[in-house]
Amino acid sequence: MGSDLYSPGRSVVARLPFGADLLAAVAAVVEEHGVEAGALQGVGALRRARLAFYDQRRQTYEELDFDEPLEIVALLGNVSRRDGDVAVHAHAALARNDGTALGGHVVAGCEVFACELVVVELIGRPLERGHDKQTGLPLWTTL
Ligand code: ZN
Repeated sequence: MGSDLYSPGRSVVARLPFGADLLAAVAAVVEEHGVEAGALQGVGALRRARLAFYDQRRQTYEELDFDEPLEIVALLGNVSRRDGDVAVHAHAALARNDGTALGGHVVAGCEVFACELVVVELIGRPLERGHDKQTGLPLWTTL
């Protein structure tokens, strides 16, 4: 466990395309602008969603499908690097048409209806992910 200081760099503002995969579209935006590390937030709506929940005991993700229109109440996450590639880690809180909420770890399979994304670049030491034995997760290894 550790920490380090980063400074805010550029802010990338993007409107994600209708029908795009949410995670892939966010990755495409940060790659397009060369963001190596950053904090992201977004609001909008999804046509359908796939979220994951991490089973801490079994150390595996369980995926859940929601085949319904959903509001993106909060898309929150970060950008770092894993094996030289951009790694977007995002969680979403989503609302159903009755106002109830659900949420989880964003995986491939979230189809964008509309999404307004803001990514704030973080300037500092490279932020890399690698396997963490204790949790089984790809956590930051450079902190
Ligand atoms: Zn997660």
